[in-house]
Amino acid sequence: MKTIIKNTTTFVGENFDRQDSIDILIEDDLVKRIDKQINASDADEVFDGKDFFVTPGFINAHFHPSQQFNRALGVGISHDKQMDLLHATDKIKKPDDKYWLSYLAVLEGLRAGTTCFYSVGSEIETQIKLYNKLGVRAACTMIPKDIEANEKDESVRAKTWDTKERIKTAEELHKKYHSDLVRVHFGVANVRYASDELILGMQKLAEKYDVYFHMHAAEANKYVESVMKRTGHRPVEHLYKTGALNHRVSLAHMTKLMPEEIKFLAEKKAHVVHCPRANSYVAVGVCPMKELIDEGVNVCLGSDAAINNNSNRVLGDAHAAHDKLADRYEKADIIDYITLFKMLTINGAKAMGLEKQIGTIEEGKKADLVLWSKNEYPFIPGFNLLADLIFADDGCMAHTVFINGKKVLENYKSTMMNEEELKQQAKKIAHRFYSLFKERIFKNL
Ligand SMILES: [Zn+2]
Repeated sequence: MKTIIKNTTTFVGENFDRQDSIDILIEDDLVKRIDKQINASDADEVFDGKDFFVTPGFINAHFHPSQQFNRALGVGISHDKQMDLLHATDKIKKPDDKYWLSYLAVLEGLRAGTTCFYSVGSEIETQIKLYNKLGVRAACTMIPKDIEANEKDESVRAKTWDTKERIKTAEELHKKYHSDLVRVHFGVANVRYASDELILGMQKLAEKYDVYFHMHAAEANKYVESVMKRTGHRPVEHLYKTGALNHRVSLAHMTKLMPEEIKFLAEKKAHVVHCPRANSYVAVGVCPMKELIDEGVNVCLGSDAAINNNSNRVLGDAHAAHDKLADRYEKADIIDYITLFKMLTINGAKAMGLEKQIGTIEEGKKADLVLWSKNEYPFIPGFNLLADLIFADDGCMAHTVFINGKKVLENYKSTMMNEEELKQQAKKIAHRFYSLFKERIFKNL
């Protein structure tokens, strides 16, 4: 299959060099050629790109699709209470319910230019199914806990698993489902509720199958205190001392870091996923993004979940990351938009071990491309299109999206699913869920 995007504007390579009046040839799953006036006579499809600009797809490096149910239920409550809410609502959801709502979370991200998700949760079989159905790239990662939250009432306590059983199941799921488009990585929930045996066992599998490892870490004071009580060390310090930091490891949130922990991350080449809006929503502090970048740590971006971000558009997190940093240092030039754009794209690819395949537009890389209409409001006058994307993020909608060379979104609609039917189905399920929520949970919050 050959598709040519003719006469367009694009941004090539890791420095996002702007090229105008350029053609992009997509052959099967790859960007085959980027050149002036490519012969289109044998192309299966020619897309007139004159009124568009093309960027690499964004990478949401920390994402819980199944939390779509809980959007706006956690307004104004603390991080700890929000975790209680999350675990309580998990008990009244059916796995199939999560499936339908998760579609909407992924589509919302896709419509805002995300083509790859580091997708976490307990029902990863459900997630694998939906990414395959939508034709969207993902690394699905189970994030189990094996330390019981005894301090919590049973009604809000997360499910815990047998350590060996979870490691065995994770390996079986990898063997059964891992593919080029929908990968199966390994992970655990966080240092507070995962034993060293679980963390190191999952990491061993990541190495064995040459994939990556993901978890939450250093997110809130209560978590840090609890880890210190159990291990005598702060979370990242503990991971360092147990040999659990390496180039395959990405850690989400990281709002509670000491300077020596930043050095540990840099030394071991671990990656950090900054989730600025999710952190603000539950007031857990600010990830020291500048200090991490200055120390040489790869920092990328995640939207986290609809329960604490309310948005699944990681593009908005680039804007938020800028604003938090500018406010903190009272300096407008503390971070440039190209660095933010790297955090949205190639840095996320590095955190997933996919930098040779995705994250930039280059000949020989996967055709994960987003076409934005220059006629939309955020891009008029359009003097600096990449900065427009980041700073006018609220209004930016992808017109057409290719993933793995396949057109999965066209004229703002999924080509893989009937979105209207999906919304109706999801609304029905959400209505039933909300009745149960009000009856069983709301009064106890
Ligand atoms: Zn999370």
